[in-house]
This record gives sequence, C-alpha cells and structure tokens, in this order.
Amino acid sequence: ITRPSANLDPPFYTGCQTPILNTTARANATMMMLARNSDAGGAVASVKSIQEQFNDNFHYPWVFLNDEHFSGEFMKEVTSAVGGNAEVSFHSISKDMWGFPEWIDQERAQKAMHGMESRKIYNAGKESYHHMCRFQSGFFYDHPALTSYKWYWRVEPDIQLTCAITYDPFVSMDLNNKVYGYTIALWELGKTVPSLFRKLSDYKLRKHIPTTTIWTAMVDPSWAPLPIRRFILPWLRNRDARGNLWNMCHFWSNFEIADMDFFRSREYRELFQLLDQDGGFYYERWGDAPVHSLAAAMLLKAEQLHHFSDVGYVHSSLQYCAYESKRDAFERGRLVPGSKEERGEMLGCNCKCDEGIEIIGSTCFNRIRSTVM
Ligand code: GDP
Ligand code: MN
Repeated sequence: ITRPSANLDPPFYTGCQTPILNTTARANATMMMLARNSDAGGAVASVKSIQEQFNDNFHYPWVFLNDEHFSGEFMKEVTSAVGGNAEVSFHSISKDMWGFPEWIDQERAQKAMHGMESRKIYNAGKESYHHMCRFQSGFFYDHPALTSYKWYWRVEPDIQLTCAITYDPFVSMDLNNKVYGYTIALWELGKTVPSLFRKLSDYKLRKHIPTTTIWTAMVDPSWAPLPIRRFILPWLRNRDARGNLWNMCHFWSNFEIADMDFFRSREYRELFQLLDQDGGFYYERWGDAPVHSLAAAMLLKAEQLHHFSDVGYVHSSLQYCAYESKRDAFERGRLVPGSKEERGEMLGCNCKCDEGIEIIGSTCFNRIRSTVM
C-alpha cells in the first residue's frame, strides 16, 4: 500500500472565479432529469438550486424525461423555475425503453419482487422502480432527446447544490480527459444486487478484460471500516471466481456528470446486453448506480474518473459537504498540520452545508484512491 504524495484528482478550480459568461465555447452538453408528474415540487426545487448556483451563468439546456406524458402543470411549473436563462424540453419515453423485455418471465419477476418487498429491500416491490433502473442503466443515452449530446449532468428531483459552480464542469472534464464524474461514493445495499458482481467478474475473465486499478480497489476489503465490513461480508455471492469480495463501493448515480460516449461504446453496450439478458433488473433489484459504477471500474482508467470534491450536494437524507474534513484528509494520508484541510476550509465557492443533514465526510472512493493510487 502506498500513500499518495499529492492529490491526483484535484478539483478543476478551487474557490470562486468570475463565471465564464456565455461568450466562450460551451460543451455539447445537457442537464437531464427523469421525473414523474408527481415529482413536480422536487423538480422545481432542484432546478432552482442548479440555475442559481450554476446554470444561470452557463445556459445549458434542460431535458426532462418521463415514462408518461408530462402534465401541463408540471411543464408550466418547471419552465418557470428554469427562467429565461436556459432552454427546456419535455419528452416521454417509448415502450421499447421502459417495461419488461420479452425474455423476462413476468410471473417469476412478480414473485421475486414480492419476495424482495417482504424482505424490505429498498423499492424492490415497485415494478416501475425496476423499469427506471433498467432505463437509467441501458437506455437514457439512446433517447432521441439526448442522442445529439455528448455530455450530460444527471439531476434528480429534491437535490440541492450547496456551493456555487463558477467554471464549466463539462469543458473541464473534456480538457482533463475525464469520462465519469461523481460527488458521493458510498456502500451499496448488498441485498439489492446479490449476483451482479459475480456475473460481471465472470464476464471480465471470459473476455480477458485487463484489471484496472479501480477494479482492484473495489475488491480490496481491507479499507472498509469495521461496521461496513460486518455489513457486507455476509454477501458471499458477491465474490469473483478467485474469491475476491466486492467491497460494495459505488458511485451514487443521482448526481453524475459524464460522457455519454462511454455508455454508447461497444464495450458498455455488450456489458449491458449481458446484464439485461440475465434478468437481474427484475429477478433482483439491480440499480443503475452499481451497474454504472462496476462498468466504470471495469472499463475506465482511474484518471478518467473525477470526484467533484468542490461540489457540495444534498439529496434526500445525505449530503457531501465540500470541504476537506480532517478525516478525509487523514484517510488520504495528507493531513498536514496548519494546512487548509486541517483547518477545515472549504474547497468550493460560497459553500453552505446543510446543518440538518447527515454528512458523508469521506466518500468510499477517496478511501480506495488513497489505497491504490
Ligand atoms: P432513489 O433515489 O433511488 O430513492 O429513487 P427516486 O425515487 O429518487 O427515483 C430515482 C429517479 O427516477 C428520480 O429522478 C425519479 O423521479 C425517477 N423515477 C423513479 N420512478 C419513476 C417512474 O416510475 N417514472 C418516472 N418517470 N420517473 C421515475
Ligand atoms: Mn433519488
């Protein structure tokens, strides 16, 4: 184990700068939100926060997707929340991207969903949630409203940015050869994906896909804090053929800034086809977060990932607070007395963490990076 001598994945900017105004080149990018009509209030809150903290200065268009038609009221409220600084469009999702594929045994799926519901597996009893996870895993990037874009920022209802973003994250990703960006990495609930890791690792062996440093990190159990180890160890099915255990670290995909060409690649498509044929989106409750994460771990180099460590972010009951806490810095092996990390200074611009919400002080991926990079 070597400790990093420097932060190998620093923020693109620290502190504030005058936002680049609409006179410089934009990336080919869009803000994207999947939502139900009943999510209108949460969608408005997210849009207001993103516009205020970022997009009023950058003017990226919004694309809203729904498996049903958006109601007039949803469109009216959201359009007004976006305001005059960005374009908005609303689209529905066709049946070939949302719903059981024909090879799924629907009786078996219903039974599995009921079983998982009685075992209190999060959202596993909701059929629509399974369709949603499958759509976000293997279809969004082919939706006609998104095919003309390269980059996307995934936004969910009820999120909040707690720092201003005064640079263009898409352009920065591009300039730094980044492919996939995240703010929070945490431990997946093992019960939702009992066979996912084994299926992917068998595929990796069969296809002779070389082992990346991220993949290695994801099967290193030694870093996991004890309570987490106790929590994941029973999930023995998440071992690969050599007995390595996935440590359940994954990127929380409700925030993603990424290059859709990754998902559109032959390699990712083949991997998704394999998972889709398997049926685990229905017979288990595979989420798009572990699917994206393990695919990125298998197919991308560590340098192609970016932790938006300067982007404070809140969703439901968790937040990432954009300063380097002492623990964070300690885990990266670089807590220097008197440094800004030690003093707990903010990394981002005008950050205001939400005091009522639990802070993820250190993402599990930071922990992984400090182990392997
Ligand atoms: P969680 O983040 O996993 O707790 O799940 P959410 O309830 O936040 O759903 C994740 C995302 O999928 C959100 O953007 C939801 O609006 C969206 N979503 C979930 N279920 C459906 C659905 O049945 N239809 C549509 N259109 N969107 C959905
Ligand atoms: Mn959510």
